[in-house]
Amino acid sequence: MTDSPAASLALLGGQPEITTPAPHFSWPPIDSRDIEAVTGQLTEAVSIPDRSGIVADLEVALAAWLGVRHVVTTSTGTAALHSMYAAAGIGPGDEVLVPALTFHATATPLLHLGARPVLVDVNADGQLGLATAASLVSPRTKALVAVHLWGLPENADALAAFAGEHGVMLLEDGSHAHGASWNGRLVGTYGRAAAFSLNGPKPLAAGEGGFVATDDTELYYRLLLHGQYNKRCRTEIPAGHRLAKYATTGQGLKLRIHPLAAALARAQLHRLEGYLTGRAACAERLCAALEDVPGLRVPRLGPAARASWYALPLRYESAALGGLPLARFLAAVHAEGATEVDHPGSTRPLGDHPLFHAPRELIPHYPVGQDTALGGCRGAASVHASTLKLPVWHRPEDSALADAYTAALAKVARHHKELL
Ligand SMILES: *Cc1c(COP(=O)(O)O)cnc(C)c1O
Repeated sequence: MTDSPAASLALLGGQPEITTPAPHFSWPPIDSRDIEAVTGQLTEAVSIPDRSGIVADLEVALAAWLGVRHVVTTSTGTAALHSMYAAAGIGPGDEVLVPALTFHATATPLLHLGARPVLVDVNADGQLGLATAASLVSPRTKALVAVHLWGLPENADALAAFAGEHGVMLLEDGSHAHGASWNGRLVGTYGRAAAFSLNGPKPLAAGEGGFVATDDTELYYRLLLHGQYNKRCRTEIPAGHRLAKYATTGQGLKLRIHPLAAALARAQLHRLEGYLTGRAACAERLCAALEDVPGLRVPRLGPAARASWYALPLRYESAALGGLPLARFLAAVHAEGATEVDHPGSTRPLGDHPLFHAPRELIPHYPVGQDTALGGCRGAASVHASTLKLPVWHRPEDSALADAYTAALAKVARHHKELL
């Protein structure tokens, strides 16, 4: 298959590998069950001020799925993170260890609470560097947040040991990782509390939405007071509780999920396990096809890890392709029609964002003199600079598309000299 004109690169005038029009991946998959659930909800209730109806159904179902005592749904994952940090008692002067490579919303709510995000560099495999984290613990360190990037679970045992050893609270941002697990233990159950997004592309998606999961009943009451004021607080916080007097106003923020989003999330949750099984098979297929392609390294998961495969992160090794820059490689892959191969834009080193360098210009109450600890974080920079991600399809009928994607990647790698 070397030198026929059809085999030359599309970027250089050859035939593209994929001619099916984009998009090649859309999420969440919507079928008649979703349409029934959402339209049914339209006539049932579109505003739910207490924990009843679809909001209660969804929270009960999420809590049962995770095996936790409490779930509070929210308008977004960002709101879930904000509520989780607030409810965990994180405030001015506190330090929170955050992976240096994540979506910015893992850390931005901390700025609003006046807490100091302390960035922890990631290892070569993109996972939180616990030795580095240990060196950053101070008397002000209150918590460590684990993010299971792209749905590849962090080592839960190591995280729990770290939290115990250093006396810090373990929290999770499970927004990429619904259903991922470590040694059979689901992401979202490792620590004191976990926040999840239900945003459009996430493994469990409601368009917009989020939730916090916890076994801690006090934290649960504080979640309600943070973003679910009035009825929920009045009916769920016991009258004799010290904070019950605040029930009507809470903290004054209203971060409730929309009932139509809750209905969609509830319908999707029934199918999550099927999605994950399908994605695991697809990820295996993609990795097998790419394993021997020079310049691309597939992720290796140990036997303890089950991923949600929010995406398949590949590491691009330009040295193996004569120094071909990632951007040029990616342009050639896109020209082949594999348009959903992506170099992550917003999930990048947090130190890249001006907000973390100068938060007070936008958040004037951020404590003066409390700089965010951005560190060097060369691991995060190099992992990000060399990451390409692929969609992971869940339906067997998308295998041909998955194969076409890996064929496009292999073709560009094979012809890399023509791009130099
Ligand atoms: C999507 C995401 C968020 C934010 O969730 P939204 O629902 O978009 O507000 C937070 N953290 C991570 C890791 C995410 O991927």
